[in-house]
Amino acid sequence: MLTDYHWHTARCGHAAGAMEEYLARAAALGLEEVGFADHLPQYFLPPARRDPELAMPDEELPRYVAAVRELQETRPGLRLGIEADYVPGREKELADILAGYPFDYVIGSVHHIDDWEFDHPDRQDPYGQSDLLDLYRRYFDLVARSAASGLFDIIAHPDLIKKFGFRPAADLTDLYRETARALARAEVCVEVNTAGLAYPAAEIYPAYGFLALCRGMGVPAALGSDAHAPRQVGRSFGQAVGLLQKAGYDRLAVFRRRERGYVAI
Ligand code: ZN
Ligand code: FE
Ligand code: FE
Repeated sequence: MLTDYHWHTARCGHAAGAMEEYLARAAALGLEEVGFADHLPQYFLPPARRDPELAMPDEELPRYVAAVRELQETRPGLRLGIEADYVPGREKELADILAGYPFDYVIGSVHHIDDWEFDHPDRQDPYGQSDLLDLYRRYFDLVARSAASGLFDIIAHPDLIKKFGFRPAADLTDLYRETARALARAEVCVEVNTAGLAYPAAEIYPAYGFLALCRGMGVPAALGSDAHAPRQVGRSFGQAVGLLQKAGYDRLAVFRRRERGYVAI
């Protein structure tokens, strides 16, 4: 059985389609256990600096939760998730927001290195001006810290730094190993996210080498398409299953009220 735990909604300002259309697409694909995980409001920025095209405004969060819960009344396989940015030093604020809602799972994401939103297509200049290995080290350190924060159930797209195809020449195995160890210690899931295939990285997040190390250390895996439109639900899941199986996974993590269970792939 396959799951898709990572869908956005039009509330975030850069996704399209009605929530029902995501569910209809999932039903057509035979995905039984699914979840919305829209972007949490940008709690770490002052209101004037928040971008309505990146995340829903504060007042939409209760409406998002209510909308998913209403859909759950007729869809037993639907879960209430959220994708929350990890920003070091802001853990307490985030914990307080998360505590206010009955989420089934929380996906933790690193989208910033200091103030740089490194996954934004219009902000790629720093890649050309940086030592890529140093950037990767800083990125993976944040991923490890996001896991260690204890705030999250699933660590999203855990090598997102490769998105635009900027890759250091060095072997990344040691970095992967340290990061996988942080996930294992924190008992969080690694997310297998198929969105990377659609970008210059042309690869699922994470790379096979990273995923295999996670498997070896007993890190559970969760699966998501990171759909920002109904047609992206379940995208490239054939490839994702191939990658998971090659790494040795035979089950996927599922969540209810932040309690982890498993389904066989
Ligand atoms: Zn998004
Ligand atoms: Fe993300
Ligand atoms: Fe996402």
